[in-house]
Amino acid sequence: MTTATDPLLTAAERRLIDAALEVVARLPEDGAYLHTVASAVMDVHGDVHTGANVGHFTGGPCAELVALGTAAAAGSGPIALIVAVGDEGRGVMPPCGRCRQVLLDQQPDCRVIVPGDDRPYSVPARDLLRTRPGTRTPTRRACCGSARSTGRAWSTAARPPPRGSTIRPSQGRSR
Ligand SMILES: [Zn+2]
Repeated sequence: MTTATDPLLTAAERRLIDAALEVVARLPEDGAYLHTVASAVMDVHGDVHTGANVGHFTGGPCAELVALGTAAAAGSGPIALIVAVGDEGRGVMPPCGRCRQVLLDQQPDCRVIVPGDDRPYSVPARDLLRTRPGTRTPTRRACCGSARSTGRAWSTAARPPPRGSTIRPSQGRSR
């Protein structure tokens, strides 16, 4: 199944990105950079839960982890899809190493929306920790701001859908 051939999944991805964008647009601009990333998760029933990161020097939780906790507190089903978006128009952000490990351990069957060259696309959480010799984490900042949190790139299987996907291309760019 790919996003290009599954219109329902594509609609779900768009819905989830929009939900995260709504949250990130509401984050307070207090200058302290406490909340800079929003996340949205969708469970297998289609229910959406959101969260924002809690920035702190002790290692405050990433937005994805907050959203996962919010979903659990609401009694959600298994998570089917997750996305994180940055403030100040940064768009979809890839999960950091910690978030990738959490997703792999706790929600291995979910898909993760990641930024692509032209547009976001989703990959299985399982593929995010696969390594390929000679590859490194993209320079694009991850959800917690670390650019080299894992030293790993996502799988070669994690490629964007062909052109013609209905995912909005405007959401795919980060700074
Ligand atoms: Zn993270």
